[in-house]
Amino acid sequence: MATQTIRTTCSYCSVGCNFTATVEDGTVTSWKPDKNYPVNLGRSCPKGFNLLEPLQSEDRLTTPLGRGADGELHPISWEEAFTRFADGFKKVLDTHGPESAAFLSTGQIPFEEMAFLGALGKFGMGMVHGDGNTRQCMATAAVAYKQAFGFDAPPFTYTDIEESNFLVFLGSNAFISHPVLWNRLKHNKDKKVVVVDPRATKTAKAADQHIQIQPKGDLSFLYAVTNEIIKNGWVDEKYVSAHTIGYDELAAHVADFTPESVEEVTGLSAETIRTFAREFHEAKAASFWWTMGVNHSHQGVRTAQAMINLCLITGNIGRPGTGPNSITGQANAMGSRIFSNTTSLYAGYDFTKDADRQFIAEQMGISVDRIPQKNSLPYHKILEGADTGQIKALWFIATNPGHSWIDHNKFLERMKKLDFIVVQDLYANTETAEVADLVLPAAGSAEKYGCFINSERRIGIVDKVMDPPGQAKADFDIFKGIAEAWGLGDMFAAWNSTEDIFRFLARVSKGKPCDISGITGYQMIRDHGGIQWPYPADAPNDEVHRRLFEDGQFYTEDGKARLLVTDIVPVPEPIDEKYPFVLITGRGTVVQFHTQTRTGRSAMLRKSYPADAYVEINPEDAERMGVSDGDSVTVTSRRGHSTVDAVVSDKMAPGQVFMSMHYPETNPLTFPAFDPYSFEPNYKWAAVRVEKEG
Ligand code: SF4
Repeated sequence: MATQTIRTTCSYCSVGCNFTATVEDGTVTSWKPDKNYPVNLGRSCPKGFNLLEPLQSEDRLTTPLGRGADGELHPISWEEAFTRFADGFKKVLDTHGPESAAFLSTGQIPFEEMAFLGALGKFGMGMVHGDGNTRQCMATAAVAYKQAFGFDAPPFTYTDIEESNFLVFLGSNAFISHPVLWNRLKHNKDKKVVVVDPRATKTAKAADQHIQIQPKGDLSFLYAVTNEIIKNGWVDEKYVSAHTIGYDELAAHVADFTPESVEEVTGLSAETIRTFAREFHEAKAASFWWTMGVNHSHQGVRTAQAMINLCLITGNIGRPGTGPNSITGQANAMGSRIFSNTTSLYAGYDFTKDADRQFIAEQMGISVDRIPQKNSLPYHKILEGADTGQIKALWFIATNPGHSWIDHNKFLERMKKLDFIVVQDLYANTETAEVADLVLPAAGSAEKYGCFINSERRIGIVDKVMDPPGQAKADFDIFKGIAEAWGLGDMFAAWNSTEDIFRFLARVSKGKPCDISGITGYQMIRDHGGIQWPYPADAPNDEVHRRLFEDGQFYTEDGKARLLVTDIVPVPEPIDEKYPFVLITGRGTVVQFHTQTRTGRSAMLRKSYPADAYVEINPEDAERMGVSDGDSVTVTSRRGHSTVDAVVSDKMAPGQVFMSMHYPETNPLTFPAFDPYSFEPNYKWAAVRVEKEG
């Protein structure tokens, strides 16, 4: 009997836990969290433990499907699928030009596959537009860092969570969203944990202090705290003058944000704000940790930068236990941000710069004319293009916006206007696959090779532990087949494995902030237990945990960080008499992930979360409306309505209701507002009313 031990990375959240599989004669006989991996140290959450179960679901798509003349999807061969793919996209692109088709990708596949997709779609097929579903989670953090630091560079390493004395989780329900990371707090014996969140989440209840802020009061709160820090002389002036630009503008901007002046918008007492500012100042090492409560906002970038500002002006960056730290959403959102060839050329090169296009063209061995000279439209503009007729064809890879996109009824209307839709996924019964003309069966993460990059910039290996079912293929092989069918075999002849692409990216990254030119290949990543970027060939550093900016040098031309501010603008859809509640959406339980494409197919996980959609309502509001726990209620916004179960819960403040993102009943209600810099949707505010059924 042939027995192998294989270590691979979990493909749900961005913590990046590793698991060790024992494989005997091709069958996985044991699956355990890896004790030696520096990320999870033998720990896991239930999703990771059950990673393989959804891959073995009967729902797995095992052959390509093509829509027939009867309007139904039917099994077809791969040869037929590749031909239909090439014919469908060529017809649209030849007729309507290079801006008439686009791809919409994911943070869930290895970044080598993302890089292949980015090259195939843009350099090969000739599309200008291609974005990722990381637009729905991390675009805000990415833009905030890029503008402030000169590069999209989360500065922390996970040991910072163990070394910080004052940890502020702002808009983060890490207890259920990033449980293994949250668990590391138990190694920190000298700390205060503060949660700033409108909901009394599990994270808030587990913290030392919950600051129950009004929805969208966070930017005013942070500016008032900044004002307090400045007014009390708590600024690290030496750090500010040596390492930042924009302090005078920041000080002038926040001068009017007194704690008293923001009491109403934040729902907090001036004393609470003053105490927070003083404790932040007094901490030896203070840190912010944020996720979607900040990123999903109409002013998310400037809110993230308000935390970045606070860390910079108090010198809480580049030291153990400090930092403005965004916790990423999906397993490989960081890989998508730097290597997917969507919003930027590989490794942060710029589509709009001649020299950058020339460099990438030389590295790829292609004519520079093949590289688009403009940036892609962002996700929401691509979808709007379906309305206006600009976009005629879309290719979705490992993503399900038919469930997850904001204001989702409009999304489905737009899909009806397209000439050609391709979905590449594990299952054919996702909401998006159901409207496709062609569905391509893909392998799951444990069925192929590549790398993910986690929240702390650690590149972790994805190794194959089992075969995909039926004719399902790794996304790499699907891209290879499409390239051949398109007549692009020569362009990608050098890419015969994901590791070939890894080595290309390592070479291209040389000299950039995300330089990984010193990583020779997958075996080195396996041997090191993951490697954080940067890892340059000319300055390799084998410390297991590395944070950025210890020398106070940022990635801007002058090496200084930018302090950035904005005016507060009104919420996009104010509540009124007809729609008196603020609807907040977010993650429901530790055992659910996003649109439940995978977690919904695990019998084990399904036992541990509510089967039906629900809305959490404050007890006072429920009593006033005569609503009891378990009653059927209809939640209505200006865009749609959904009938769900009422959950009467003191998690909610009066006037606010919560619905979990995992159920399709939620996004018909959400309001399509977007941050003006990151274009990330604001899933955390819509005006709704709630009515008891019957
Ligand atoms: Fe996977 Fe995240 Fe759970 Fe770790 S914490 S096992 S990476 S889902």
